[in-house]
Amino acid sequence: MKFTVDQNQCIGCGACESICPDVFKMPDDKAQVILNPVPENRQPDALAAEDGCPVGAISHTND
Ligand code: SF4
Repeated sequence: MKFTVDQNQCIGCGACESICPDVFKMPDDKAQVILNPVPENRQPDALAAEDGCPVGAISHTND
């Protein structure tokens, strides 16, 4: 499972990093994915972060 943050949509709220800091980081004012592909044991949190993004900037593929 691979995750992507749309840099044009991200508003830098930091929610994804709070929910899943192993996968999402805020090096500046936009979130970055730091672990791709996401290992199985981190996928539930990463999916929760995707669900919790207020602007729908996070997406994933199942490859
Ligand atoms: S939750 Fe969404 S809008 Fe907020 S920092 Fe993460 S990707 Fe950006």
